Amino acid sequence: MQFTPFSHPAWIEVDLVKFKQNIFNIKKYIGHDVKLCLPIKANAYGHGLVEIARAASTCVDYLAVSCLQEGIMLRLANVNIPILVLGAIHIEQITDLIKYDLEFTISSKYKAQLVIDECIKLNSIANIHLEIDTGMNRTGIRVSSAYETIEFIHTHPCLKIKGIYSHLASADTAEDEFNLIQINKFINFVQQLNLKQNGNILFHLANSAGTIYFSQTHLDMVRPGLLAFGYYPSYSSSQNKNIDVVACMAIKAKISYFKTVLAGEGIGYNHTFKTTKNTRVITIPIGYGDGVRRSLSNKGDIILNGNKYPIVGNICMDQFMVDIGDGSAYVGDIVTIIGKQELNEITIYDHAKLANTNTYEILCGFNNRLPRYYITEDGGYWES
Ligand SMILES: *Cc1c(COP(=O)(O)O)cnc(C)c1O
Repeated sequence: MQFTPFSHPAWIEVDLVKFKQNIFNIKKYIGHDVKLCLPIKANAYGHGLVEIARAASTCVDYLAVSCLQEGIMLRLANVNIPILVLGAIHIEQITDLIKYDLEFTISSKYKAQLVIDECIKLNSIANIHLEIDTGMNRTGIRVSSAYETIEFIHTHPCLKIKGIYSHLASADTAEDEFNLIQINKFINFVQQLNLKQNGNILFHLANSAGTIYFSQTHLDMVRPGLLAFGYYPSYSSSQNKNIDVVACMAIKAKISYFKTVLAGEGIGYNHTFKTTKNTRVITIPIGYGDGVRRSLSNKGDIILNGNKYPIVGNICMDQFMVDIGDGSAYVGDIVTIIGKQELNEITIYDHAKLANTNTYEILCGFNNRLPRYYITEDGGYWES
């Protein structure tokens, strides 16, 4: 890796070899009879929507996105496998959902009628998945009105039901009793449906946590997002893995400045850190404008030459400072913000804990100001 695009001094590395191994290990765990749908919403959890879709499209059955615009981006990039839009649809999106051959979610009879009207206008069909609300209370048809909605859809052949699904609210807390309530509700519902009508309908329920902890949720297809990128629901759960996955994202930057600071000086905005002795301070050209949480100010670390050093002062929009004591460093040396260096490692779990949030929010917070470098079997390439 010689140059970053525009020679930008901070970047994300995504190891596609590890990512594909994760997918392979998940497939091995769920078995041949269960399909794999890979959720890649929010820029593939920060890993880059199009490149992750391209890497995955030969080894998964479905991709899932949250909204129309993510689906269109994939179609324009010539990703041709089935794509499911998970989020609620809006009336003005229906034409494009159909035109770009996206499968999308219907979660009320009202929305079904809107799509039917559009299909008649366009003289086309729409491939849909019905979402059943088993207790998440976000979107989805309640079980009590689902039978009637399905019958209504069956009287309109322009709507093809490709799948029926639900979403688990608490599967990351495996011992939460509500999981079994939701799971049983969905499985009972599936069993009550007239089997003749089910035909090729895919029933799906499991997110990452469901895939890991509740094999009875695997049904026809699973939808693990976080897991495919190498993370378990929590750090503690990642210490005891039944599916072997590893993180495939690293974040690195080149030191942009080096100086010696005298004892008693303040560093950065509002001088929230004051030196107690003469020390060496380096400046790193990445900040909260790129997704490094400001709440890591005076708490987080980076790795330089295999050693961890503390972030000092408030993290700025575009840079932050690190106290390296009497360590040595040169402008242009590469530091690791997320990832492994020799024996030390800083993980997404670490950032999530320090920022008092979850891994998902940290991952998708790393945005497009950081160019992405993709590591492959035979080298690597920059996202175009
Ligand atoms: C985001 C999402 C998933 C994937 O969740 P993970 O916890 O990342 O596995 C699955 N299903 C639906 C409906 C989602 O919105």
